[in-house]
Amino acid sequence: MGFTIQNVLIPTEQGYETVDVQIEGDRITAVAPGLEVNGTAIDGRNKLLLPGFVNAHTHSSEMWQRGIIPPRPLELWIAELYDFTPLEPEQIYLSALGTAVETLLSGGTTVVDHLVLIPGQEEETIAAAVRAYREVGIRAFIGPLIQDESITSGVPSGGADVEHEPYLRSTQATLDLMQNTVETFHRPDEGINIMLAPTGIQLCSDALFQGCVELSDRHTLCRHAHLLETKAQKLLAQEKYGCSAVEHLKQLGFLGRRTSLAHCVWLDDADIEILAETRSTVVHNPLSNLRLGSGIAPMLKYRQAGVNIAFGCDGAASNDSQDLLEAIKIGSILHNITDLDYRQWITPRQAVEIAALGGATGLNQAEQVGTLDVGKKADVVLYDLTSLSLLPRTDPIGLLVLGRPVQAVHSVWVNGQQIVANGAVATVDMEQLKQGLFDHSQWQVNRQSPMMAQMEAHYRSVMQLPQ
Ligand SMILES: [Zn+2]
Repeated sequence: MGFTIQNVLIPTEQGYETVDVQIEGDRITAVAPGLEVNGTAIDGRNKLLLPGFVNAHTHSSEMWQRGIIPPRPLELWIAELYDFTPLEPEQIYLSALGTAVETLLSGGTTVVDHLVLIPGQEEETIAAAVRAYREVGIRAFIGPLIQDESITSGVPSGGADVEHEPYLRSTQATLDLMQNTVETFHRPDEGINIMLAPTGIQLCSDALFQGCVELSDRHTLCRHAHLLETKAQKLLAQEKYGCSAVEHLKQLGFLGRRTSLAHCVWLDDADIEILAETRSTVVHNPLSNLRLGSGIAPMLKYRQAGVNIAFGCDGAASNDSQDLLEAIKIGSILHNITDLDYRQWITPRQAVEIAALGGATGLNQAEQVGTLDVGKKADVVLYDLTSLSLLPRTDPIGLLVLGRPVQAVHSVWVNGQQIVANGAVATVDMEQLKQGLFDHSQWQVNRQSPMMAQMEAHYRSVMQLPQ
């Protein structure tokens, strides 16, 4: 049994048209005006239907530290983040629920969670996130965040002789953990996908990258990593490899059409060519890049070079929210200051396509989701065009992308299942979620990070900042 959304506005090539959309099981089965009602009738009048967006890069458990880390660059920000990382699987569960809810209520139907693991409780961490995403019903790509070098290795040495502690888990133990995770949790038909997601060149050995390539190819899984988020990482790549990080990842076989790379701020033209040639996807996280002072990713260059791009919120400790529409807005208009040729600027319609189809493409899902075409899976979002923030009536997509939509999401379906109805998430007890987040946290100011104190002098010297 299915349902039919009647008299709903959808975008066409040039404008909009009013149609009926039939959904049966998990698929869109017909899109045309005046269709017969199949199953339940849903009133689509004065509403806009769009394909669901992809929150293509986040770290759900950072929700526990949103709003608290002072203005710092990534290398010092992350030191503080790790000093106060949540240590209970119950927290992982709650912040995954919270991330899913905020993603859904800002137009997302898929979330990519680059999941920070609790040391010693890695399997429990993954199980807690999987439980949350299954309960909510959002489509989830979970990439347990793995590394095999300790956090201080992420800062270039600048020629100094710096000793690093060995990482708490061996490369092989990490790869074994991932093999188990794939076997236990990877269930694409049920909306749970495991990805191979080394954190990035700054904290991972070649052996770890190669192990991830091998495992992801064996099981046809997506690959994900951070790439050249900061200037320090660009320096580090030169120190570590004697060539660019992108060139090195290409040699390791990590790039490709199942690979998405978060940030990509510090790439040069030759690097961009490699991403285009390997069909890799760039995930743009504009708010995080601004918050951490990482730089402005050259998104217009990527588009001109034919590189697929997507939008992400990044973790809530560097954003400090999970509002996908906000990331899409900033991620579109930010580039108007980097390129004088306004004909290259990202239009609201292009932004929607990047957020939906671009996101799907980066997850090897373009055949399945990302548009409203008949035959695709019904991952769709209905926006209420009578919401105050979408009035008065001008261009619905223009209002949605360039405005500040508040409570604009009316309904969301993932895989044909309704998850949001009348602006509320139907699968989550919101009062219980809020109580859980409240009970596991406390108001606090001026906390001191020992790791930050340990790393700051070296960072300032390498980056040529006054001590
Ligand atoms: Zn990240």
